[in-house]
Amino acid sequence: MELLDRQYDTVVIGAGPAGSLAAGTLAGSGHSVMLLEKHREVGIPLCCAEAVSLKSLELFCRPDPKWIASPINGAVLYSPDGTEVAVPWPGVGYVLERKLFDRWLTQKAAGSGAVVLVNAEAVGLIPGPDGYFTGVKVLYQDQVHNVTCRTIIGADGVESMTGAWAGLDTAMKPDELHSCAQYLMSGIDGPGDMVRFWVGKETAPGGYLWVFPKGEGRANVGLGILGTMAGQKKPGEYLDQFLKKHFPRARIIETMCGGTPAMEEDHPMVSRNVLLAGDAARLTDPLSGAGIAIAMASGQMAARQISGYLKTGNEQALGDYPALWWSGLWKDIKYHAKVRRAFLKLEDDDMNRIARLLSKLLKDKDPSKINPIDVAKQVVRSDPGLLLLGRHLL
Ligand SMILES: Cc1cc2nc3c(=O)[nH]c(=O)nc-3n(C[C@H](O)[C@H](O)[C@H](O)COP(=O)(O)OP(=O)(O)OC[C@H]3O[C@@H](n4cnc5c(N)ncnc54)[C@H](O)[C@@H]3O)c2cc1C
Repeated sequence: MELLDRQYDTVVIGAGPAGSLAAGTLAGSGHSVMLLEKHREVGIPLCCAEAVSLKSLELFCRPDPKWIASPINGAVLYSPDGTEVAVPWPGVGYVLERKLFDRWLTQKAAGSGAVVLVNAEAVGLIPGPDGYFTGVKVLYQDQVHNVTCRTIIGADGVESMTGAWAGLDTAMKPDELHSCAQYLMSGIDGPGDMVRFWVGKETAPGGYLWVFPKGEGRANVGLGILGTMAGQKKPGEYLDQFLKKHFPRARIIETMCGGTPAMEEDHPMVSRNVLLAGDAARLTDPLSGAGIAIAMASGQMAARQISGYLKTGNEQALGDYPALWWSGLWKDIKYHAKVRRAFLKLEDDDMNRIARLLSKLLKDKDPSKINPIDVAKQVVRSDPGLLLLGRHLL
């Protein structure tokens, strides 16, 4: 196939949000790009609860009803004893139809000039001199093709192999990966425009359970847990147990399972001319597991650094990517990693006390003025037991 015989400035592996933003950014800057997707259709299969804040979405695009399932007008948190912390926040975000959103992002990349190839799986990198790579091995129509390129972006998601092929240690420890199970369900009662979260050892050890509305009584209902804290019980078993108690009449429309990385900084993102973005680079919010906007941001940043390199030949542009990332707009996720460490030490009683504190602290506050880091510090200071657990957050 002629498209596979060309030489590209960059091959991007994976057409999720990270890969499509990377390919679109590079193509928009005049570079030749091939975007590979191993599945027949972009966005399918999907494992995501699809929530995104308006603030982070607007960094990349204007919300479009074509790929929005439901607005989010606030959040409710339930502690193990049922204490409810409600924060109404009109217009704070959306639950997307990601199957359509991801496809739209890929179409935009194609519209900017990227060559998109679906049903095309990267199966290895082609080594060159001095640790550089000169291309990607692509399995397409039962044949492996060598696609040559000057740079590579690994945006191949949580199960990424690109980093390992490039010699990076991207393995995650058991306490750095949340195992998730989720159902798309119908017949979910309750507010149709608030995201809801449940915490507690019985419900979701080491993580949380979510109900994110998708309109017309449908919702993504799922949870993420830490295998190290969950014993022998699987995520699906925790989810079924919760549903029996809280939504016995709801019906399952789709099932999915997957993992979200929950890592601190200093994990590898670059090897010579190979840059990783999104879940492949383990870049998610370690506290919430959210990664859609972070994937888009890191894909875009990796692409800009590569564009700088391609235009000037200065390799420093590639090596600067991690430091730029960790000093930039998303640096708060370093703090969220610390909060997560404290969260993992909490007993159910601590969570109940925190929920009671939060419901007082947040009552009648303008939600747009709430700074989560200040709130975390206030919570830790207000309770001697919590101060012991969360000193490092101050
Ligand atoms: C259960 C669950 C719920 C979540 N809920 C949310 C949420 O509500 N909000 C949020 O912000 N984040 C959420 N996330 C996280 C979010 O889904 C990810 O962070 C995000 O999808 C990462 O985007 P990405 O582009 O890095 O990777 P992905 O979206 O995983 O895309 C990677 C792409 O690469 C392709 N690929 C993989 N290997 C190859 C290969 N060898 N060759 C070619 N193509 C390949 C895959 O098919 C895929 O299309 C959730 C995750 C899970 C598991």
